[in-house]
Amino acid sequence: MAGLSAPAAWAFVTRFAPSPTGPLHLGHAYSALLAHDLARAAQGSFLLRMEDTDSERSKYAFEAQILDDLAWLGVRWDGPIHRQSDHIAAYNRRLEPLAARGLLYPCGCSRTDIRAALAAPQEGVPHQTYPGTCRSRTMASRKPGDALRLNLAAALEQIGTARFVETGPTHAGTHNINPALAQAQIGDVVLSRKGENIVAYFLASALDDADHGITHVVRGEDLFDFTPVQVILQGLLGLPTPTYHHHRLIRDETGKRLAKRDDARALSKYRAEGATPQDIRRMVGL
Ligand code: GLU
Repeated sequence: MAGLSAPAAWAFVTRFAPSPTGPLHLGHAYSALLAHDLARAAQGSFLLRMEDTDSERSKYAFEAQILDDLAWLGVRWDGPIHRQSDHIAAYNRRLEPLAARGLLYPCGCSRTDIRAALAAPQEGVPHQTYPGTCRSRTMASRKPGDALRLNLAAALEQIGTARFVETGPTHAGTHNINPALAQAQIGDVVLSRKGENIVAYFLASALDDADHGITHVVRGEDLFDFTPVQVILQGLLGLPTPTYHHHRLIRDETGKRLAKRDDARALSKYRAEGATPQDIRRMVGL
C-alpha cells in the first residue's frame, strides 16, 4: 500500500533470559510466553539468552530441559542462543573504562558474600547492601581474588540524572532514580571477580540488553528493584536504556510466588501429567 509500510522488524526486540539453574516452572512459562507473544504481535524479534555466569549452579541438563520446554510451549526464538558464559572476558573488559574513571574499587570481603552478590537475584533472598568497608581502596591495591565493586555515589555523580520508563502493571510510569534510595536499596554492587573469571548478573544482563538491541525488557516483577543499577550502568557506559515491563508473578494457591526449587510447578511435571501448551497458557492467565 502506497505510503504505508509494515513496522520495521527491529522496532520491538525483546528476550527471555533464564538462568539454567533449575527447571522452568509456570512463572517462567508466563514470562517466556508473554515476551514471545508481544514480540510476535509487534512483528518484532524475540531472542533467547542463557544467563549461565554462575558456573557452580548452572547445569547443561537444565539448559537442555529449558530448550525442550520452550519448544513444546511453541516459543520460537530468533537467531542463535546467547550464552553469557562464553563472553565473560569480554564483559570484564567493558569495566576497564569505569576503573579508569575511578568508579570501581577492589574488595576482599568474604568469598561467600561476593559469590552470592554476583548471582542473579534469588527468590526469597533479600539483597544486602554493602557497608562500604573497602571503598577507600585504589585499583592499584587489587589482589588476586578481589572482587570489583561499583562506587555508586561516584557513579551517580558522574551520570547526573538517570531514568527509565516502565510499562508493567504495578509500577507503570517514568522512574527517576533517586540517589538516596539507590544507595539504600542497591549500594556498591559487585560487578566482577577476576580470579574466578566471573561477572555479575547486573553487568552481563545490562550489556547484553544494549548489545542485542533490546528495546523492551519483559521480566518478572521480582527484578524491578534491580533495574536502577542496570540503568545506571547503561548511563555510565553510554548505552541505550530499554523500556521495562515487569510483569505480575505467578503464585501458588497460598499466594507464595513460585521458586526454582518448587519442583511441583515444574513444566516438565505438567507435561508428564498430559497437560497441553494451551492448558499452560490458561493456567498462567494468557
Ligand atoms: N536470569 C534472570 C532469571 O532467570 C532473568 C534476568 C532478566 O530477565 O533480566 O531470573
